[in-house]
Amino acid sequence: MNIPFLSFHKMNADVKAETLASFEHFFDKAWYVLGDQVKQFENEYANFNQTNHCVGVANGLDALIIALKTLNIGKGDEVIVPSNTYIASWLAVSYVGATPIAVEPKMDTYNINPELIEASVTSRTKAIMPVHLYGQCCEMDSIMTIAKKHGIAVVEDNAQSQGATYNGKLAGSFGDINGTSFYPGKNLGAYGDAGAITTNNDALAQRAMVIRNYGSQKKYYNDEQGINSRLDEVQAGFLSIKLKNLAKWNANRNHIAAKYMELLAGTTDLVLPTIANGATSVFHLFVIRTSKRDALQQYLQQQGIGTLIHYPVPPHLQKAYSELNGKPGDYPIAEEIANTCLSLPMFPGMTDEEITYVSSHIQQFLHG
Ligand SMILES: *Cc1c(COP(=O)(O)O)cnc(C)c1O
Repeated sequence: MNIPFLSFHKMNADVKAETLASFEHFFDKAWYVLGDQVKQFENEYANFNQTNHCVGVANGLDALIIALKTLNIGKGDEVIVPSNTYIASWLAVSYVGATPIAVEPKMDTYNINPELIEASVTSRTKAIMPVHLYGQCCEMDSIMTIAKKHGIAVVEDNAQSQGATYNGKLAGSFGDINGTSFYPGKNLGAYGDAGAITTNNDALAQRAMVIRNYGSQKKYYNDEQGINSRLDEVQAGFLSIKLKNLAKWNANRNHIAAKYMELLAGTTDLVLPTIANGATSVFHLFVIRTSKRDALQQYLQQQGIGTLIHYPVPPHLQKAYSELNGKPGDYPIAEEIANTCLSLPMFPGMTDEEITYVSSHIQQFLHG
């Protein structure tokens, strides 16, 4: 059996007819940038995410950069980020000239540990950037309480968790201003790069719209030094169609996760995902941990099973951040996760037979 890490077949089949019709409509209309499709998708996504505003942008990294810019975060400022996130969260902070300050995650949920945040707050701290990693919403009530107490902003990185909740409230609706990504492999993925900002704050939404479009509200009149980071009309049209299917696909991911949990329970030297009390996950990824990670990945590859590592090197040990002089041992939890985690195949349309095949080979290897 051949099981890829990620397959788009089922999702694409679900939306094919509508998507081709949407392309034809777009093609005939011949309007390419910032038109009705973008406006419509922004309204639909704001509605889905239960926020007052959504601003479509070119990708998830830009969404975070623009969000930080609307808060005037820059040189000399610090932003608290998880030590184990995808590097984009750190890069957004660095790009605006601020310094990422890493805080360790919880060993069981892999999300930032709220109990460790306050020790890293200084007079320069301007924001906390919680990252809802692997599909699970962070423990946002504690994070919001800390932010309020210290008068600092919250910018959620919601690239991986569209539809996840904490105490019934959606990821991407807690922070002052938040970013998400519609990179093809995310739960809500475009057919190319795309992203968005969500916020309840009218002024921040307005400023984000200006920054994404060269700092301009009126053509050829520039209020500030913005960037070009617009969501394409054609991608917005496709995303509107996919958004209607997102709840169904997220439910399917939860079914797959439950099946993995059931089949893999009790396996030797295997740590399964943990969901915090009050949190839900949309299982962007299904991440297991084992001390035999590299050998297991190789064995599964030989059985035709694709897996990936999210992520093999934490940001503080990346060459890109050599300026921070990070050393092994600085963030032991992030390093332990990097050394032992493995993401199993997870995509809407994965069959019970495929889940069983993957699970039995993991057990065969770890028990054998
Ligand atoms: C994918 C991702 C991003 C960046 O999104 P792009 O659209 O690829 O720029 C940021 N943060 C996290 C946690 C991500 O997974």
